[in-house]
Amino acid sequence: MTQNHITVWNNCLEVIHDNIDHIAFKNWFGPIKAVQLKNNVLTIQVPSQFFYEWIEEHYIHLLRKTIKKELGKDGKLEYSIIMSNKDKHAINLPTTNRNATKNRPTTMPLDLNRGKSKSFPNPFIIPGIKKININSQLNENYSFDNFVEGECNRLARSAGFAVAQNPGKTSFNPLFLYSNNGLGKTHLSQAIGLEVKNNYPEKTVLYVRAEQFLSQFIDSIRNNSTQDFVHFYQVIDVLIMDDIHVLAGKEKTQDIFFNIFNHLHQNGKQLIITSDKPPVDLAGITPRLLSRFKWGLAADLQTPDLETRIAILNNKLYKDGLKMPEDVIEYLAYSISTSVRELEGAMVSIVAHSSLNKKDITLDLARNMIDKFVKNTTREISIDYIQKIVSDYFNIPVDIINSKTRKREIVQARQIAMYFSKKYTNSSLAAIGVHCGNKDHATVLHACRVVNNLLDTDKQYRSYVGDIEKKIKV
Ligand code: ADP
Ligand code: MG
Repeated sequence: MTQNHITVWNNCLEVIHDNIDHIAFKNWFGPIKAVQLKNNVLTIQVPSQFFYEWIEEHYIHLLRKTIKKELGKDGKLEYSIIMSNKDKHAINLPTTNRNATKNRPTTMPLDLNRGKSKSFPNPFIIPGIKKININSQLNENYSFDNFVEGECNRLARSAGFAVAQNPGKTSFNPLFLYSNNGLGKTHLSQAIGLEVKNNYPEKTVLYVRAEQFLSQFIDSIRNNSTQDFVHFYQVIDVLIMDDIHVLAGKEKTQDIFFNIFNHLHQNGKQLIITSDKPPVDLAGITPRLLSRFKWGLAADLQTPDLETRIAILNNKLYKDGLKMPEDVIEYLAYSISTSVRELEGAMVSIVAHSSLNKKDITLDLARNMIDKFVKNTTREISIDYIQKIVSDYFNIPVDIINSKTRKREIVQARQIAMYFSKKYTNSSLAAIGVHCGNKDHATVLHACRVVNNLLDTDKQYRSYVGDIEKKIKV
């Protein structure tokens, strides 16, 4: 009995439908057409290269089973892929694609008849989707000019700058930037995007938060437009994906991103990814995606040191045309050490408060504000801060306290600073030592013992160490 390709495929579809959920079925099998059955080989037409990869990756077992059931154990499946004129890259893909050689049920001739070319709706809902019209979603304020350089960000910043000069052409692909919150990932990744646009106006840059990407993907499933969604991302030259950790546990979205990543990477396009953790610590992200992240460079942004914090504040004040007394700037920089966002937030609150209440910006106002707005949530006592208090109390500059001198009163101030650093910060003895003029951990331990002894035995000493402690806890 000769079988007809349509009936065979319909029989397959019935089985497939019984085995996967309805939305996936509609999404991935709805658009497939059976085109011929010849020598026991069924040819099906899929709308794109991406589509083919997805089917191969997710439904290959099911497909193989149903084909064998319908056509016997010699039955084979062949794909014919419609090439869209707009997606010029897709034609090159099969030779480099992993799936084209692995686990393939059969050969995959390309149908170069160039089926109907399709336009890709932009998930950012910007009408008239011509490639050049894609809005990059970049914020002009997040430029390299506004990004203050410091020891804390040197590697990440210079790698970012190099990428912006030669997107896709350096070995920093992907460039993976990670840090705690509020330390400049978004700013730096956008700076790269802006710089690329300056250097190469013809390149398409896109910044997207992983959260947006996720919801666009979900929408695309709902609207049956996942291919369009993917195609949209496949035409980007520089893709910036911010906060990838948000995709933890979202396997389908990670799959889609994996495909987009591969497509872009294979075509020499640049990827910039940010995350709150280094790749090795990213829980809930599939190993194959993690392994891709390790192809390029992972660079972290650390908490800025005191000078950089002061420079960041000055930079922001200058940019906003604002003025603030130096001691207030220093006080802020001393008090808030873990997040640039918090630092800027405190500065903005103080400026707002002073102008609303027509009060001058003074140290007292700053102290009040910090207590009200920052203290309970984020204010941390830092080693810098403790050193500053001790320095003010004894009227000895911080760099003298941290020097190597053995003068008695300076040694004493240094020991007290070390003692409080141990008591009020989470820093290790070694870290405190490094911060107090490169001493070793034994020196810090010794200092803590000396201070404890004197506190037990010397009443006068106890009273002024108590004074200092009160100032630290203000
Ligand atoms: P993240 O994305 O890591 O949470 P952001 O990039 O949003 O952090 O940075 C928080 C704020 O701090 C932003 O307003 C940013 O402009 C500012 N900022 C962070 N690092 C720097 C820096 N090195 N120079 C100037 N501003 C910075
Ligand atoms: Mg961010």
